[in-house]
Amino acid sequence: MAEPFAVCSMCRKQLHFGDKVWRCSVSTCNSGRVKLVFCTVGCWDAHLPTARHRNAAAIEEIARKDGAPAKR
Ligand SMILES: [Zn+2]
Ligand SMILES: [Zn+2]
Repeated sequence: MAEPFAVCSMCRKQLHFGDKVWRCSVSTCNSGRVKLVFCTVGCWDAHLPTARHRNAAAIEEIARKDGAPAKR
């Protein structure tokens, strides 16, 4: 299970299928071409000041093929 899934949107660490990842609850961070994914809640937290969200939550998720950010 070492197939690449994506890289962390903050630190660029490689993520693999089966890894626990974090997503941003804000819809603009999950729509269109830009689907942000983070390796830790700390990386998601570092994203907040750059995105200036008013209400945001980190969503814990397991990286799965059907949830891949690349294509749908
Ligand atoms: Zn990261
Ligand atoms: Zn966000």
